[in-house]
Amino acid sequence: MPRTAARTAALHQRMLGWLQADHTSPAPAPPPTPEQTRSAVRRQLYRDVGEFLFSNGLEPTPRNFMVAHAYLSGEDWEVALAVGAHLRSGTPLSDSEVTQIVEKQRASDLTPERLTTLANQLEARLNDCVTAVDTTRDSAATFGSALDEEAQKLSSDPVGTLHRVIALTRDAVEATRLAELQLHRTRQEAAALRNELEQARRAAEHDHLTGLPNRRRFEAKLAEVIADGGEGVATVALCDIDDFKQVNDSHGHSAGDRVLRFVGDFLRTHLGRGTMVARYGGEEFACLFEGETPHGAHARLDAVREKLSTRSLVNQETAAPIGIVTFSGGVAPILNQDAQAAMQDADTALYAAKRSGKNTVVVARG
Ligand code: GH3
Ligand code: MG
Ligand code: MG
Repeated sequence: MPRTAARTAALHQRMLGWLQADHTSPAPAPPPTPEQTRSAVRRQLYRDVGEFLFSNGLEPTPRNFMVAHAYLSGEDWEVALAVGAHLRSGTPLSDSEVTQIVEKQRASDLTPERLTTLANQLEARLNDCVTAVDTTRDSAATFGSALDEEAQKLSSDPVGTLHRVIALTRDAVEATRLAELQLHRTRQEAAALRNELEQARRAAEHDHLTGLPNRRRFEAKLAEVIADGGEGVATVALCDIDDFKQVNDSHGHSAGDRVLRFVGDFLRTHLGRGTMVARYGGEEFACLFEGETPHGAHARLDAVREKLSTRSLVNQETAAPIGIVTFSGGVAPILNQDAQAAMQDADTALYAAKRSGKNTVVVARG
């Protein structure tokens, strides 16, 4: 829709303004190094975050910083959309609205609050179990001493004793039946809670748009792989869709979302088992090639890149051609068991791939 497209375009302009070159300063004679360019972009983002907080009258709290950063960098698309929608309504963003945006975004996360609720429910069910067991034990003890009492009277009143023993046994059987019922119900509730906990854990580790593991899961897996193996145990890669902003601008963000899902699925399917593909953020995917050398990982990722670059995509909603979508990739070995350095190297290699014209995969230190 043109109105949506215009809104999206305005949002993009706002979000990505910090990426544009500063035309007011004189062009330096030598071209800036990649590190200088990155540093300039970071400084601009920092200034824009501050300006955003002041112009909205927001306190400089970690939460407000986080939302301003997510909005201006476009790194968190959902937060960016929520902030954009709010600003377009004409009212400035207040601290409580920022809180609402963050809360909504975290609703599906395994937050400490959610964990506390689940743990409390589980504890209540455990208490039910203990009560049921105690009740059964008490009624068994009562039954035992009542039987002893009746045994004394057996010779003097055999018929009366028999009737009372039958009544006592009936009561004991009924008490056991009730306890069993309660245990059965408790077991069912505990199973439902376990299921809910598992779903919450999954939601906390997966990206809801693509269904791929998220950055948190990727980093945890990377740490596990490094802890389990020695040097050369795995290779990492970072992939970033080329000119993705144009897809959003020309076809709208829901088409952009579908392209993201498609590329994520394409990477996962074609890299195959043994390689974790995660959504690392925005239009970036991280890959973990277990037991693979950088050379091997490069060959496999490059083959997927090549394959994708022969596909022409179509917007399913409008039948408009989107055309060829490509990605660039940076591959890096894990050296000295340093996950952070490996991801940084992959990012530097990705940057080199972008600078060399995109739609290519570069190996760090290769
Ligand atoms: P480059 O080739 O240099 O990577 O250019 P680019 O346009 O891909 O990169 P840029 O960083 O300029 O823009 C990326 C865009 O991706 C901006 C952001 O709004 C968009 N984006 C991030 N996350 C999502 C998402 O979940 N859905 C959609 N539709 N767009 C997203
Ligand atoms: Mg990109
Ligand atoms: Mg990017």
